[in-house]
Amino acid sequence: MRKRELERLLQRIPPHPSPSPELEQYLTPAGVAAEMLFLAAQRGDIRGRRVGDLGCGTGVLAIGAKLLGASRVVGVEVDPAALEVARGAAASMGLELELREGRVEDFSEELDTVVMNPPFGAQRRHADRPFLYKAFECAPVVYTFHKAETEGFVTREASGAGFSVTHKNKYRFTIRHLFSFHRREREEVEVLLLRLERWT
Ligand code: SAH
Repeated sequence: MRKRELERLLQRIPPHPSPSPELEQYLTPAGVAAEMLFLAAQRGDIRGRRVGDLGCGTGVLAIGAKLLGASRVVGVEVDPAALEVARGAAASMGLELELREGRVEDFSEELDTVVMNPPFGAQRRHADRPFLYKAFECAPVVYTFHKAETEGFVTREASGAGFSVTHKNKYRFTIRHLFSFHRREREEVEVLLLRLERWT
């Protein structure tokens, strides 16, 4: 499958009906999700692999991983409304995913690769910490998005857990006026995609 085709399929996933500010439901744009998943696929981290998506939201990363040939995809998400969208989208594409309602903190699974876009910590500082801990616990390879300015924090957490950064790409997410606390209608956020690998 070409990247363009993956992006087109991922664009079909309906938006979240009622995003919540506390949960920081900034969904990964289809084009950026396709970029992450292609990088992962090229590195051999998707096809035939057990892939987890922590905080899977409406499922863009989980669905994309399955479309690229993951043997198993497990997603966990605390928000039932987001999960319903993800389940509907996966079913409409004929994909079998394991999408569980629950908190990342309580998730437990042995995986080959984690792909995730955790909360950026705009509402609660370091809200991405439990996601990082859980990812490091579940898999030796982690692809994750973070606000660019938190790179130091993420790198320190990773190295403390025995992981190092093997790839780094920058993207801009345009966040629409989703929540009333945003002053501007659209905000551009610099986002880093990191590939982290266990070296111990
Ligand atoms: N992975 C999706 C969603 C990213 S937004 C995408 O890339 O588009 C982050 C998601 O994490 C939201 O859907 C939010 O509901 C979820 N989330 C926040 N805290 C959580 C927690 N403690 N446990 C599980 N999911 C959580």
